[in-house]
Amino acid sequence: MAGTSGVRLVNTFDLFRSMYPAPMLLQKPDSMPGRPALSRRDFISGSALLTLAAATHGCSTLETSGPREPIIDIHQHVGYHERTNTALLAHQRAMGIKKTILLPAGRPVNSSSTNNGASNGLEAKCLGNQECYEFAKAHPKEFTFGANEVPDIPETVQEIEKYLKLGAVVIAEQKFRVECDSPQMQRLYELAAEYRVPILMHWQFKRYNYGFDRFHKMLEKYPKTVFIGHAQTWWANIDSSYQDDAANLYPKGKVTPGGLTDRYLRDYPNIYGDLSAGSGLNSLKRDEEHGAAFLHRHQDKLIYGSDCADPAGTLDTCQGAQTIAEIRRLVPESKVLRKLFYDNAMRVFRL
Ligand SMILES: [Zn+2]
Ligand SMILES: [Zn+2]
Repeated sequence: MAGTSGVRLVNTFDLFRSMYPAPMLLQKPDSMPGRPALSRRDFISGSALLTLAAATHGCSTLETSGPREPIIDIHQHVGYHERTNTALLAHQRAMGIKKTILLPAGRPVNSSSTNNGASNGLEAKCLGNQECYEFAKAHPKEFTFGANEVPDIPETVQEIEKYLKLGAVVIAEQKFRVECDSPQMQRLYELAAEYRVPILMHWQFKRYNYGFDRFHKMLEKYPKTVFIGHAQTWWANIDSSYQDDAANLYPKGKVTPGGLTDRYLRDYPNIYGDLSAGSGLNSLKRDEEHGAAFLHRHQDKLIYGSDCADPAGTLDTCQGAQTIAEIRRLVPESKVLRKLFYDNAMRVFRL
């Protein structure tokens, strides 16, 4: 869920940047060394074109549309806060997504691992395996699906395997109140390796997936399992000065590099980061200098996802669209953008 709002108005430089190949714009155009300066007239005609485009398509979608890097969204849900299927389809198209991975909830269960039922539907009214599977089958070019289940019930493995055999590309979203090294979770790590799919985990201190500080033991024990980290505790721990704190899940201000997440990404080839949700966006916006360095440092390990529940898919209200714009703002090189938006997802999910 979006924990930051931070609506950013599209400014002239961003509009201008969207007109030209990214490598030309490492600096603002009027200070470009070693290239013929773009004239004021080029700039104005570019702006005029964009004004026209804005009038035709609606200004708020400008930054996320156009013939640029294709985008895969690795983190969406069916029925998310009761969003209709029609709205989901329109939302992903408005964001300019080429392919979306739908992550199911587990079945409704009243147990400690679901916080006595409060976390059913991923605590966001998300629907389950069959709904994601059917939606993806109805739109096979644009959507694919994951497989999921509450990890500590008798049916877990059988239910997840059923959808893996139908073609699920990930085990997710694992968002349950369990120890990250419990026998039940370890069985899922084995299953992921067996089917050569990643497993995506929602890390939230004292709520979901306990034991982030000892997770390296799992990364070492299961080298053939591909893990993907997501959510508040994952992103708060990019900062080495952060102490896990359930009351401070969206920390602000300067980041000191070398936090646990930074080190996991650096030291273990089998863990990746999902840039989705308010926590992913906050991690970039809170210190943009660090955000840009972090995206470059881990350009082969970070993957775009939206995880937003709005119906619009446009910059004014959509955190997924804002994250796309923020990544474009911090990463001028189209080669790196392509990895973050497309190549890494293609490789990790074997799409
Ligand atoms: Zn989610
Ligand atoms: Zn959205």
